[in-house]
Amino acid sequence: MLEIVNDLKVQYDEMKQRYQKRIAFLEQNNKDMKIMLGKMHPLRFSTNQFCSPRPTGIVGVYSSTHALHLMHCPICSRTHPEGHHCG
Ligand SMILES: [Zn+2]
Repeated sequence: MLEIVNDLKVQYDEMKQRYQKRIAFLEQNNKDMKIMLGKMHPLRFSTNQFCSPRPTGIVGVYSSTHALHLMHCPICSRTHPEGHHCG
């Protein structure tokens, strides 16, 4: 009888360990997903220097960019700016 109880205890401990591992994995996965969705900021600032009422963005959007508008030309088969007339 004691042997059966001991066997059950071993089984229980193994199962517990397996599920604890799985939960830890899923929790980490959940955290990564939240960061990916922009719901959680991956960085924690220790000062309020960067405090902003604006919501956290998923990707950086810059206000000034070089708009080259390059395109692949079907006439000369080269890459040049859009609107460029060749030939
Ligand atoms: Zn061209």
